[in-house]
Amino acid sequence: MSSPTVVLLPGDGVGPEVAREARLVLELVAPDVAVEERLIGAAAIRAAGDPLPGETLAACRDATAVLKGPVGDPEFDAADVRPEQGLLRLRGALDAYANLRPSVWGDVDLLVVRELVGGLYFGASGVRDDGTVFDTCEYHPSQVERVARRAFALAQTRRGALTSIDKANVLETSRMWRRVVNEIAPEFPDVSVEHMLVDNAAMQLATTPQQFDVIVTENMFGDILSDLAAAVTGGLGLAPSASLSDSGPGIFEPVHGSAPDIAGRGIANPTAMLRSTALLLEHGLGRTAEAQALVRAVEHALATSPTSDLGGSASTAEFGAVVREQLALTTA
Ligand code: NAD
Repeated sequence: MSSPTVVLLPGDGVGPEVAREARLVLELVAPDVAVEERLIGAAAIRAAGDPLPGETLAACRDATAVLKGPVGDPEFDAADVRPEQGLLRLRGALDAYANLRPSVWGDVDLLVVRELVGGLYFGASGVRDDGTVFDTCEYHPSQVERVARRAFALAQTRRGALTSIDKANVLETSRMWRRVVNEIAPEFPDVSVEHMLVDNAAMQLATTPQQFDVIVTENMFGDILSDLAAAVTGGLGLAPSASLSDSGPGIFEPVHGSAPDIAGRGIANPTAMLRSTALLLEHGLGRTAEAQALVRAVEHALATSPTSDLGGSASTAEFGAVVREQLALTTA
């Protein structure tokens, strides 16, 4: 069997700074894995006029897993071709439909599973002759089925409690979502299912997040709720994500953006990128022991040498060095 390949997409802003630490960690814990760097986002628009050049997409399709930094640059905020389009196209092209966003903090340990390639962000949009602007939320039952099945299976490996979040009192897509989740439930008799309306879910997440184990929801609700979950469990700088398909490579990336306000200063917190690397080791390469060792090493660095966003003074590189020292100690 040929050795695994990880395509590293450093991205924009603080992306290259945190991607460097991820690369050094990967070289340490998975030296047999080939790491290939490619361009995405604003960096790719500047170099090739396209936020997802054909060469980048081809390399990602051939990879075992994709490790991605954030994309986005204020220079392109009003442009027709925007860095973020590269990310949406990559997710769609790899059919990375299940977005996993774990949040662990104190007595909170929850996992948001967000449908990623359907709904409002991928439906028809446009402007009518009378000036009305529209975005359409559409789901096929098969799109709900596959993400719900994934969420049930993940709940089985955790505390066995699934909360499905929708707006079934108003939306047709939500009523179908709820019906499909209920139809699948008997396949997973060891998982309890609760349905919650999205407005109530936001309040519950903000006040008692420890009640949740696995949450499954559609694209836009998941976008908003997973940021809320990240905010109540330590902040965006810490939150990783994995976007998985059924056949091709998964995309592993921090939840935060390119942080243009601090880019180039070497002070970004690489925790979310390193935790995404741990998700890649676990879900992308099946290397659970290395993933757990990395998670523990990051915990150690957070406790002993935090970056400035957490009130400390460590630089991005210093934080990464502490993680690698700890890894070398614990995996020696
Ligand atoms: P952001 O996440 O980049 O920044 C929000 C705040 O959090 C800023 O104050 C920033 O300094 C801070 N922050 C973010 N990551 C940090 C880190 N690792 N360490 C320390 N502090 C950190 O969100 P934004 O300002 O709304 O967006 C900036 C750009 O990023 C935009 O172009 C946006 O479209 C893009 N974006 C991309 C992704 C992605 O690639 N997945 C996600 C969100 C936003």
